[in-house]
Amino acid sequence: MGADIWVYIEHAEAAPKKVSLELLSCARSLSTELGGNIVAFVPGSKIDQVIAAVGSRGADIIYAAEHPLLDTYTTDGYAAVLADAVRAESPAIVLVGSTAQGRDLAPRVAARLGAGIVTDCATLAWRDGKVLATRPMYTRKAIGTVRVTGGGPCIAVVLPAMYPLPDADSPRRPEVRRRPVHLDGKAIRTSVREVKSVHRETIPLIEANVIISGGRGMKGPENFAILDDLARALGAAVGSSRPPVDSGWVPHDYEIGQTGKTVSPQVYLACGISGAPQHLAGMSGSKYIVAINKDPNAPMFQVADLGVVGDLFEIIPKLAEAVRKAKSQH
Ligand SMILES: Cc1cc2nc3c(=O)[nH]c(=O)nc-3n(C[C@H](O)[C@H](O)[C@H](O)COP(=O)(O)OP(=O)(O)OC[C@H]3O[C@@H](n4cnc5c(N)ncnc54)[C@H](O)[C@@H]3O)c2cc1C
Repeated sequence: MGADIWVYIEHAEAAPKKVSLELLSCARSLSTELGGNIVAFVPGSKIDQVIAAVGSRGADIIYAAEHPLLDTYTTDGYAAVLADAVRAESPAIVLVGSTAQGRDLAPRVAARLGAGIVTDCATLAWRDGKVLATRPMYTRKAIGTVRVTGGGPCIAVVLPAMYPLPDADSPRRPEVRRRPVHLDGKAIRTSVREVKSVHRETIPLIEANVIISGGRGMKGPENFAILDDLARALGAAVGSSRPPVDSGWVPHDYEIGQTGKTVSPQVYLACGISGAPQHLAGMSGSKYIVAINKDPNAPMFQVADLGVVGDLFEIIPKLAEAVRKAKSQH
């Protein structure tokens, strides 16, 4: 087994996902202990723009695995290509972002390689020749430390927003190596006919440093417009608790919590959300929590750094106005 640290670069619309870039920072911290190269693995077809975007973020080498059959993500195609490359090059560890695609891909690659895998990692370290990972457990009530035993490369699936985004102007200029890809179309058992993007007013949750979430206290779908307005002013994303999703007010991918997304932005603004344990499970790792609720006894205030007792319908528009005014003065 070598000492290289690989980062699987997930991308969409010709841009790498933020979590994949964050993993280059994770790889950099591991490399001080491991000493190997940081390798960004970019599969796909027509990936030059992605490679250019990864280029200055601190990778030593970029492996480009290009093939027309990799035009859209399929589990069979991508798992085959990544597993073949890992088998051939034998890195110490492969880092994959904990996204829908990463969670689909990583276990299949691990199974093909007979490799150890650890999922939902918050931090990673390298101790005595093995990977040591911390991961939140029991809806974040405990943090487990996992040591991956066994030889060969290990696959680590890392949560978003755990590592900083590396600077875009690293002096390192990675060497780009084109890997030959051998793919048999018959081995890909699914075909993607169409990809439909959900229209969002604001940036995706997983990419955001600031998230504004609405709960049942929003009272109806039309009122999410005031959260969209504040989000636009702040450059934030909009999410929700489960009731607005169950009531069809917002799409399913807004949901944060035990059965939704896990997020850890710099700032999480909870509007009309009581603070049930199932919601806290998805956002209590946020750096700074602000709660707006008209009930002073709402459990959300117990985890909030800043609590505002009041009517969100009065506060949110005023806040958006104040943000716009402050921005216009700079
Ligand atoms: C197995 C399971 C999984 C679950 N998974 C999830 C999950 O992933 N995510 C999730 O969120 N929930 C989940 N739930 C549901 C969870 O238990 C709660 O029911 C839910 O989180 C409550 O959402 P809420 O806080 O928006 O609504 P409520 O608990 O009804 O709270 C609404 C809040 O809005 C406040 N409010 C009302 N009007 C205003 C106003 N004008 N201004 C300011 N404040 C106002 C109220 O004071 C209240 O605190 C799950 C439940 C189960 C059983």
